[in-house]
Amino acid sequence: MSSGRTTRALQRVIESMAASDGAGVKLRRSLGQSPYTRLDPFLMLDEFSSFDANDYIAGFPAHPHRGFETVTYLIDGHMLHEDHLGNRGDLKSGAVQWMSAGRGIIHSEMPQQEQGRMRGFQLWINLPAREKMKPAGYRDIDPAEIPVVALSGGGSAKVIAGTLESEGRSVAGPIQGLATDPLYVDVELPAGAAFTQPVGGERNAFIYVFEGAANIGDAPAVRTLATHSAGVLAPGDLVEVSAGAEGARFLLLAGRPLGEPVVQHGPFVMNTREEIEQAIRDYQSGELTRAGD
Ligand code: MN
Repeated sequence: MSSGRTTRALQRVIESMAASDGAGVKLRRSLGQSPYTRLDPFLMLDEFSSFDANDYIAGFPAHPHRGFETVTYLIDGHMLHEDHLGNRGDLKSGAVQWMSAGRGIIHSEMPQQEQGRMRGFQLWINLPAREKMKPAGYRDIDPAEIPVVALSGGGSAKVIAGTLESEGRSVAGPIQGLATDPLYVDVELPAGAAFTQPVGGERNAFIYVFEGAANIGDAPAVRTLATHSAGVLAPGDLVEVSAGAEGARFLLLAGRPLGEPVVQHGPFVMNTREEIEQAIRDYQSGELTRAGD
């Protein structure tokens, strides 16, 4: 559509499937259902959404991680977080927690909402080999720190990570400068409205629709992505999305692939089987969180 730049087509649909994790939290998993549904550097995306506290209140009691980052984006509800370093935070509606497990963290993530809707996402992003054993750290990002860009054709975009380049403006989100250079945008479009964002060929990109439906690509190669589905985008320069008759709300995620071997065992994601065995030994012995202190 735009001067020699190619629009990314919808290449592959990964429908979310019902899953249960933690102490019985009901969720929808799209990326990460299996080793064949990752998109380097993204390992997993879970959506949780329920009006019934029984679906989530048992939460995610103390559990370990090593070797990657978890990004929790809470849209409705609130969730208490505590870790072995003594950090404690109460994530509220619209807030994000960006946690880098590095060499090891043991934390709990406990939804507190008892009435109304609890809704949000947890994304897992891989770390490059050279950063997998760095000290753990996290950042709670207040909703006020997340820029909301009004789109001229209607709708809005919240910029959580990376930089939105839309309609001649450049709006930077609070998370910048990571090795995987992530772009994380939450876009809401009314019926018929459109959204365009340059995402260069050096990055992998996908869209996850959680309300309505999104028409992706450039005529005549437009394909529709339904609610609760992830759509992997083909290589290209631009992401172009328009909303269907019911509008659309979706996440746009892009990141620089690491191109490294991925060996995952539950909450540990390393490059080799030996490193996984080491992580399990370190967890059992207490070294996971003791090492490097
Ligand atoms: Mn966790």
